[in-house]
Amino acid sequence: MSTIPYARQDVSDADVEAVARALKSDWLTQGPRIAEFERAVAQYCGVRHAVAMSNGTAALHLAGIAAGLGPGKRLWTSPNTFVASANCALYCGATVGFVDIDPRSYNISVAALEEKLAAAKEHGSLPAVLVPVHFGGQPCEMREIGGLSERYGFRIIEDASHALGAEYRGGKIGDCTYSDVTVLSFHAVKIITSGEGGMALTNRDDLYRSLSRLRTHGITRDPAEMEQPADGPWYYEQTDLGYNYRMTDIQAALGLSQFSRLGEFLARRRALAARYERLLAGLPLSTQGQHPDAQSAWHLYVVRLDSARCRRSHREVFEGMRARGVMVNLHYIPVHLQPYYRKLGFSRGDFPQAERYYAEAISLPMYFGLAERDQDEVVKALRELLA
Ligand SMILES: *Cc1c(COP(=O)(O)O)cnc(C)c1O
Repeated sequence: MSTIPYARQDVSDADVEAVARALKSDWLTQGPRIAEFERAVAQYCGVRHAVAMSNGTAALHLAGIAAGLGPGKRLWTSPNTFVASANCALYCGATVGFVDIDPRSYNISVAALEEKLAAAKEHGSLPAVLVPVHFGGQPCEMREIGGLSERYGFRIIEDASHALGAEYRGGKIGDCTYSDVTVLSFHAVKIITSGEGGMALTNRDDLYRSLSRLRTHGITRDPAEMEQPADGPWYYEQTDLGYNYRMTDIQAALGLSQFSRLGEFLARRRALAARYERLLAGLPLSTQGQHPDAQSAWHLYVVRLDSARCRRSHREVFEGMRARGVMVNLHYIPVHLQPYYRKLGFSRGDFPQAERYYAEAISLPMYFGLAERDQDEVVKALRELLA
């Protein structure tokens, strides 16, 4: 039986040729394509600086360090995300807290955030960093979150792993209007791919310099950043404890070639989302609420079953879809329910909206190459199960 995956990359002949040219060039790592990829993404997003990295998780880690996370500091994020959005705090020796989601947007709830901040101020436990996650490509309420960051003095690192190409209040996600750093992922299932890959975007020159150094062992070759006089033309200095989080030129070649197709990718995802919306009308489910002044990048297409009106359980519908060859998925298991996080003290009941969402959500197939007849199959299977 042929199956329909929930996500799938689209690698064209032109993408393959771009990678082949990189392989035959003088540069496999640290070559010109990395800077070219960074410039292209920065220009598109309308941000001053971009630093390409080995993956999005590495970009989150370094953004955390650059934003000052360390022992005694707190990072807050959404429980409805991939574990990496929270883990980056622990890499830095900081602690993690979560803010429950809004049941309609599936993003962090501004009301819950406001309430938690007021309580944290009382207890002297305010976060140093907030990581809003643009879930499924739908922008968070950044204007309101930005206002709260000014009032309570925390920094913002946007996790835009799902949201390259998303728009919010007349700007692009990635322009860092409301944040210090925005992080992208180019993992194979994301909007564009470089195999593995990620990027940190920022308007701040100081953060750009630290991110660039931290990406490559904390080493600088810029005399202006050195603490000692140069011994000679070979000289470089390690000024921080950095990492090897570099992207290769081979990956950048794929990323750049994919980036040139971004408009096509987004248009297709938006058309598929609009088509799902029409085809699913009347079924006992709801779909992600859209911000009136934003455009999603539609990384994911999630339906939430209306359990009271469904004959079958969430699990039966999920298994029934897979049995019919539709490889649905679930984004996300609330991070605080992971065994690792339970050992840190979190438990069931801590974030009821994220937990209720988890009991009802199913990610339907959503990717550039999804044919309309396959999308029809997906909807037919779902209709059968919900009939
Ligand atoms: C994919 C993803 C990441 C991590 O990106 P990688 O490139 O796989 O390291 C982080 N946060 C979210 C929300 C993601 O979906």
